[in-house]
Amino acid sequence: MKNLVILGSSGSVGENALHVVRIHPERFSVKALAVKKNIEKLYEQAREFHPKLVCIYDPQKAKEAASRFRRLGIRVVSGDDGLLEVATLSGVHEVICAMVGAVGLRPIFAAVHAKKNVAIANKEPLVMAGKLLLSEAKKCGVGVLPIDSEHSALWQCLEKQDPAFVKKLIITSSGGPFRNRKGSLSGITPLQALKHPKWKMGPKITIDSATLMNKGLEVIEASNLFHVPTEKVEVVIHPEAIVHALVEFVDGSHFAHLGVTDMCLPIQYAMSYPERLVNHLPHLDLVRLKAFHFEKPDPKRFPCLELGYTASRIGGTMPAVLNAANEIAVEAFLNRHIGFLEIPKIIEKTMSAHHLIKTPTLADIFAADAWARETAEELQ
Ligand code: MG
Repeated sequence: MKNLVILGSSGSVGENALHVVRIHPERFSVKALAVKKNIEKLYEQAREFHPKLVCIYDPQKAKEAASRFRRLGIRVVSGDDGLLEVATLSGVHEVICAMVGAVGLRPIFAAVHAKKNVAIANKEPLVMAGKLLLSEAKKCGVGVLPIDSEHSALWQCLEKQDPAFVKKLIITSSGGPFRNRKGSLSGITPLQALKHPKWKMGPKITIDSATLMNKGLEVIEASNLFHVPTEKVEVVIHPEAIVHALVEFVDGSHFAHLGVTDMCLPIQYAMSYPERLVNHLPHLDLVRLKAFHFEKPDPKRFPCLELGYTASRIGGTMPAVLNAANEIAVEAFLNRHIGFLEIPKIIEKTMSAHHLIKTPTLADIFAADAWARETAEELQ
């Protein structure tokens, strides 16, 4: 029996994780859940999964809802302290982190220091503080388990392989909605950019898929997670989105990970690892698929990908700066304050104005994040 905590249980990753618990109640037990403010969803989940502790991040909402949860025998905590309490709860083996934004960083480090494995769904922790997180996890003897589909795929391909024999890590991208679009991308509207061909996701990550920044962030994630220099991480466009990643070894062998395009798979693997569990996902029918296509991304059309490479190569606080400037630029685009092609320009200007800290502490990373937000905001 694996005891779990889910941070961000009302989002799609959280719900999928709970679905895995639902079909394998003999394997998993939910000890605590955390949400930002979706009390109704949390209440439903609490009634079904009986955690002993929940965190409602919004203190006002937590106050209002406390008595309802108390009647179920569940204690309610809130704010940053509440998140830390949930993340470090005793008797828990694995903390699944699916919170949006930088707010999840401190609880993840706290969970690692409390000797819990952390399964990470959102990119910020691995992009902003990946190197630091991996080194702390090593010191504490716990695992950092990726849920991002490409990194889950790499992790599975690299299992029991000697890192010395790895030549290249290859992550795939569906290419986003503008892969085949002719002409300039300058007039793209938020509505057009929000139509992703393969994955159903939130607005921020869908725009990141349209600019290919999502892959830029994933290059950083991969380099940090698997201790591989940036130049060994490659991105290829694969419109079918069935091959999620490949590892090329020095002898020319390639290991690929294939699976249906469904986040359930990487979520479940991060929960069941090192074992595999049956599920209700559709069967991957290779004969019906007929053909796979791979192509090189166009760096001129999608400069965000190159910015991701640059930040990864520079390292230190730069990935945190890239991530923060991108968040601000994407928000400005969604609010129609800037055009699609201004997103990379704002990020690039913010990065060039940054004073790098090569080996940052967590406090340095938060400071760089705050500085970059302010700077990107002024550049609009
Ligand atoms: Mg991904």
